[in-house]
Amino acid sequence: MYDFLDVRGRIFDIQKYSIHDGPGIRTIVFLKGCPLRCKWCCNPEGQEFKVQEMTFLGKHKTVGEDVSVAEVMAEVMQDRVYYTRSGGGLTLSGGECLAQPDFGEALLTAAKYEGISTAIETTGFAKWEYIERYLRVTDHVLMDIKNIDNEKHKKFCGQSNEVILENAVRIAKSHNDLTIRVPVIPGFNDTKTEIAKIAEFASMLHGVKKLHLLPYHRLGADKYKGLGREYSLEGVDLIPKDKMNELLETAKKSGLYCQIGG
Ligand code: SF4
Repeated sequence: MYDFLDVRGRIFDIQKYSIHDGPGIRTIVFLKGCPLRCKWCCNPEGQEFKVQEMTFLGKHKTVGEDVSVAEVMAEVMQDRVYYTRSGGGLTLSGGECLAQPDFGEALLTAAKYEGISTAIETTGFAKWEYIERYLRVTDHVLMDIKNIDNEKHKKFCGQSNEVILENAVRIAKSHNDLTIRVPVIPGFNDTKTEIAKIAEFASMLHGVKKLHLLPYHRLGADKYKGLGREYSLEGVDLIPKDKMNELLETAKKSGLYCQIGG
């Protein structure tokens, strides 16, 4: 057996007391590096694997830290009492948490060893062998399906959606707690037709319990400037509440339990 506590990886944040990233109160560990480049990404500092310097809210900061599983778990364990009371636990996010497979698997294994619930937030763009390893030690899967149209997916996310859709089918077959999340982005997938296609696809997957529509927001926009990058959705308006409600009604026709927000 390998000593999972010694495995090292690169993170860029740990957030405590989250209630939107899986059941109960959770600690979110953000792993650095993502193979996609979604135009709306609110964590652009998590996209590159390399350690970066950035300015945010007027302060300079280094983004990316190499840590061991033991170090991360010491922080995660501080809130054990909250997990027990709320049914919460550890959630791996990113970036793409599947992009550091040894580290991610070791973190999830360490949490399970401690009897803590585990969740992953993923876009599913990874080799199936990595996903399989994660699923053995993951209780809840929160997976993004951003668009069924592959050309649009490539244009807005920088990668094909083929592997993602294939993996969604395979995850659903082998895991019975899968939530599909759809970031709803103006000009990308904010029409009834597009949301209906995603919801229909999700409803055909056996393990899917819920579908969450996540309205576009600009909370990460300033980070791009801080990284010396341009925010390509500058000037794009938020989606009005009425329109989000219409899209919700469209999604509900799939028969899935649907909601706005995570
Ligand atoms: S998959 Fe997530 S982390 Fe990666 S670029 Fe897209 S929004 Fe950002």
